[in-house]
Amino acid sequence: MSTIIHRVCVVCGKDNRHKNDSKYSKNEWKIKKCSVCRFVYLENAPIYELLIKDFAWEKTSGTEKAERKKREPFKQAISDYLKIIRKRYLKRDKLPKLISLHFNAGNVLDIGCGTGGILNNLGSQYVPFGIEISEYLSAIGNDIIREKGGRILHSDALSGTAKFEKKFFEGIIMSAFLEHEIEPVGLLNECFRVLKDNGKIIIKVPNYNSINRAIRGSKWCGFRYPDHVNYFTPKSLLAIVKEAGFSVHQFNFSDKHPLSDNMWIVAVKDKIK
Ligand SMILES: [Zn+2]
Repeated sequence: MSTIIHRVCVVCGKDNRHKNDSKYSKNEWKIKKCSVCRFVYLENAPIYELLIKDFAWEKTSGTEKAERKKREPFKQAISDYLKIIRKRYLKRDKLPKLISLHFNAGNVLDIGCGTGGILNNLGSQYVPFGIEISEYLSAIGNDIIREKGGRILHSDALSGTAKFEKKFFEGIIMSAFLEHEIEPVGLLNECFRVLKDNGKIIIKVPNYNSINRAIRGSKWCGFRYPDHVNYFTPKSLLAIVKEAGFSVHQFNFSDKHPLSDNMWIVAVKDKIK
């Protein structure tokens, strides 16, 4: 069985196999910029089973960071420092604020929940559910989340979401997840199915249009090989969210400005597909 799949553009469906690799390709990992819609993505992506075994987050994040530190200790130190400052003073409350502002009381799903840190901090009006591909991380979180009436499934995102009945959730969170997903539109379609009418989804992904990416090039923190497979811009993120049937609920300038490495969108299931 092949462990690598060939991907086409997830935004417009174009197969770019005959187009040259982007300058951001690294080793055997081919980054392509779609010749039709300009979406940037990893063309040869590892399949789920390989992700679980070899590229699971708790393994790759440590390696990537160590590699970066070795290459550019000073820049990495500044970058780490800025991250702490940003976390502490600027964006600390962004996700909790979005959740309490936009999610009605009820079941909430965090896709790619890790050890359940976000779920564990939800208000008591929410029942927490999570999906996590790493067996190790999901096991750590599950005991605590079970006490709150929910559970964490050890699964890939698509088959995990498919296990829930339709209209089960008031809200779904994908924070730093959709950039990893090989089938983002397929997953968003599943999210649409399991959300109640007027349910919301909050998505946070790296912004490929960020100024930092332009400055740092292939050393930008948004590049992770091979576990980031989608490099969204505000335009392409909007396109796939709409493709899955959602309407935009909040996507202001402050949610997607290029000074930040990340962007946020809140989308709503306000119509029938
Ligand atoms: Zn395309």
